[in-house]
Amino acid sequence: MTHRPSPWQLAVVPYTLELRQRFTLANSSRTTTPTLLVALRRDGICGYGEAAMPPYLGETQAGAAAFLTSLDLRSFDDPFATAALLAAVDRHAPGQPAAKAAFDLALHDWLGKRLGQPWHRLLGLDRATTPPTSYTIGIHPPDVARELAAAMHGRFRSFKIKLGGPTDRAMVEAIRTATDTPLRVDVNQGWIDREAALREVEWLAARGVQFVEQPMPKERLDDLAWLTRHSPLPILADEGCQRLADLRRIPGVYHGIVVKLMKATGLREARTMLETARALGLSTMLGCMTETSCAIAAATQLAPLADWVDLDGALLVANDPFVGPVLQDGVVAATDGPGIGAAPVADLFAG
Ligand code: MG
Repeated sequence: MTHRPSPWQLAVVPYTLELRQRFTLANSSRTTTPTLLVALRRDGICGYGEAAMPPYLGETQAGAAAFLTSLDLRSFDDPFATAALLAAVDRHAPGQPAAKAAFDLALHDWLGKRLGQPWHRLLGLDRATTPPTSYTIGIHPPDVARELAAAMHGRFRSFKIKLGGPTDRAMVEAIRTATDTPLRVDVNQGWIDREAALREVEWLAARGVQFVEQPMPKERLDDLAWLTRHSPLPILADEGCQRLADLRRIPGVYHGIVVKLMKATGLREARTMLETARALGLSTMLGCMTETSCAIAAATQLAPLADWVDLDGALLVANDPFVGPVLQDGVVAATDGPGIGAAPVADLFAG
C-alpha cells in the first residue's frame, strides 16, 4: 500500500454572490447565488475554478466541496494527461456538473499558466471574432423592465429577457418604448400549450426578437418539435440540453442549443458540444449562470465557437471576487492573461 503525497493541492472556498437586481425567472426568484471557488496548486502555479450553483439546479456548496475534496489526485503525475484526469473526475460520482466544472476550469487555468498562453490561443481561436453578449433582464413589472432597459441602452447590442410570467407582452412592450436594441427571449419552460406558445413566438418575431430559448418543458419533445417546425424564430434548448450526450435528442426538436460551462462539466466538454452542434447543423449560444469573472473568463476562451453569446453573469453580481474580461463595445472577450484569464482580487484562499 502506498501513501505517497499528491502532487496537487486543492483548496475550496464557499462564496455567496449578491445580485445587483432580484433575479426572477418563470419558476424561481432569488437575490443571491451560492458559488464555490477552487484553487488547484502544483509546482508553484495556481489555477482557479468555480462552481456556480443556482439553487433550483440542486447542487450545493457543501455537496460540491465534498465531491472535490474527496477526489484522489495522487495517481495523476502527468498534469497534461487531461483526458484521463477529467474522465476520472466525471466517473467519481454521478451528476454534480458544476463541481466537475470547477475542477475542469482550475486544471485548464493551471495548464495555460504552465504554458504561458491563454486557452483561446491554445485552441487556435481568434478572440476578435467573439460575438457581442446580451444583457439579461429578469421578470419584472413592466415599468421596472423599461427602466432597466433604458439604463443599459447603448451598452449592449442585445437584451435577453425572461418571459413565462403573467405580464409577458406588457413587459416586451414596455422595453420597446425604451430601446430598439434586438431582444432574445428565455421562457425557462414556462409555456405549456404549444398553440399558445406559437402565437407568442409569432408576436415576438414582429418585435425584433432574435430567438426563443426553452419555451416549453424539456420533457415535451413532441410539442417542442411541432413548435420548432412552425416557429418563425430559432428555438433553442437550454434545460433540454445539459451535456454532450443530450445532443442526440436535439435535431428535429430544436434549432439549436445553449451551452454553459456549469452544465457541461467545464471547458473540455463545452468545447466538444459547440463543435458537435455546429457539425449537426444546430445553432449555438454560449451562456452562463450568475457567476464570477472566473467562470466568465473561462467561457470567453470558447466564445468564438458560438453563434450567439450571453456572458453577462459577472455583470449581474455586486461582489465579484475576481478580475477578468470587461465589457467593451458590447463584447466580453477573452483577455491576454494565461490560462483562463482571471485573477482573484484578494487572497481568497488564505488560511
Ligand atoms: Mg436559459
